Amino acid sequence: MTTRHDHWIDGRPEPPASGTWLATLDPATGLPGDGTAAGGAADVGHAVAAAERARLGWAARSPAERGAILHRVADAIDADAGTLMRLERECTGKVPAQLRLETDMSAAYFRYYAGVVRAAGHGTVIEQGAGVHTYTRYEPYGVVGVITPWNLPLNQACRALAPALAMGNAVVAKPSEFTSLSTVHLARLATRAGLPDGVLNVVTGTGPDAGEALAAHPGVRRLAFTGSVATGRYLAGVAGGRLVPLTLELGGKSPLVVFADADLDRAVAVAVTAVAANSGQVCSATARLLVEEPVHDEVVDRVVTAVEKLRPGVDFGPLITEAQYHRVLDFLADAPVPPATGGGPYPRGPEARGLYIRPTVYARVDPHARIAREEVFGPVLVTLPFRDEAEALALANDTDYGLVAAVWSGDLARGLRLAERIEAGQVAVNGGPLTIETPFGGYRHSGYGREKGLAALYEYAQLKTVSASLG
Ligand code: NAD
Repeated sequence: MTTRHDHWIDGRPEPPASGTWLATLDPATGLPGDGTAAGGAADVGHAVAAAERARLGWAARSPAERGAILHRVADAIDADAGTLMRLERECTGKVPAQLRLETDMSAAYFRYYAGVVRAAGHGTVIEQGAGVHTYTRYEPYGVVGVITPWNLPLNQACRALAPALAMGNAVVAKPSEFTSLSTVHLARLATRAGLPDGVLNVVTGTGPDAGEALAAHPGVRRLAFTGSVATGRYLAGVAGGRLVPLTLELGGKSPLVVFADADLDRAVAVAVTAVAANSGQVCSATARLLVEEPVHDEVVDRVVTAVEKLRPGVDFGPLITEAQYHRVLDFLADAPVPPATGGGPYPRGPEARGLYIRPTVYARVDPHARIAREEVFGPVLVTLPFRDEAEALALANDTDYGLVAAVWSGDLARGLRLAERIEAGQVAVNGGPLTIETPFGGYRHSGYGREKGLAALYEYAQLKTVSASLG
């Protein structure tokens, strides 16, 4: 363990009450990385107390004042992007282009919410006739707990932190124990940029030790969780018992539907991205490729050819943890058909020392097979042929999940018909852009509540009505 990283509480580093640090691993090399403070209930208690002390002062600032500080946080992310990307790379092995994308997007979340809170963070006047003044106002919850996963660590933290802070909440964040360093550094940068002490605190540690303590703490008035369905289900129970609202951003097994009349060049490129981007460890990866029968084999051949050109360590990174690496290999061992390409780890070279898995495609998979239904969260694509629009829709919706979907067709009306009937929180037709402005979240087991867009701003505030009789 080279460097030990403490929590960030009340504007300064705080060592763990346990006196222990968790080891991290560089998955690109298999070498040990820095230590992360092993937090627990005592550390969470300090962080919530600091947030509690800070919250009223922060909430009392005008949206313009809060926005100005959040703009400076965005500038600080840009200015120290090199450090953030290094910390992220050391515990994820992500490739440079992916690191750049995620870090730029992290700053962009702060810029977006710094701006929109000024334009949209206010309530309305309700006309009730003469002699009455009635209006609504958005008020923060107070202390918000944000629990995030390991796949896009800084990015997913900022996705929740920026709107929560913009609306005047104080936050205690608990990043994944495998990838905490960038979120702790973000809090340091935010303090330096002028965010008052205690407004953003980061407690690191495992889910059972730090995460459960945060979710259960009576001072936490709202929760936001991004992660697995199993943990989401558990936290829904905790939040239900405590009667606090919760956003759940969970997994997906999203369909990419390609009709024979589609622009196949672009559709194939999107299918390759589903495998390559972050090695498929993306909740919104469109990992089920549904292709109209007449072009199915041609599309598969083109995807396989493109996927075989991807270079480990250049175009895609390793699996982020050893547990995830073995989980993906278990899926591959269980596949009902031989792979069209890939199907295992690299046998030699530096990739063999890191947690790299070859980009993998399984063609014409039985829709009931485990690999066609469960989220693999690795560089794995399954393809399923369909005969017509009705079968495409049935296959697209034949899942427990409902996070995103993509439809490609030369017939835009057909694309939009499917978009209305696919049960998912986001549908992109012919590559329609999905950005910070577009609300994101799940149907069914993919969760509830929305991140991104204006919708997320209102997730982090409670609406109050004030009515005064003037007579
Ligand atoms: P995970 O549920 O194991 O962990 C996520 C976070 O929850 C971590 O910080 C972890 O420490 C914490 N945690 C674990 N157990 C806990 C408990 N009992 N109480 C409180 N906190 C606890 O998920 P993961 O393996 O880190 O992430 C992968 C999953 O996240 C995938 O299923 C993926 O689809 C999902 N994900 C979803 C989105 C989205 O926006 N929908 C984005 C990224 C990842």
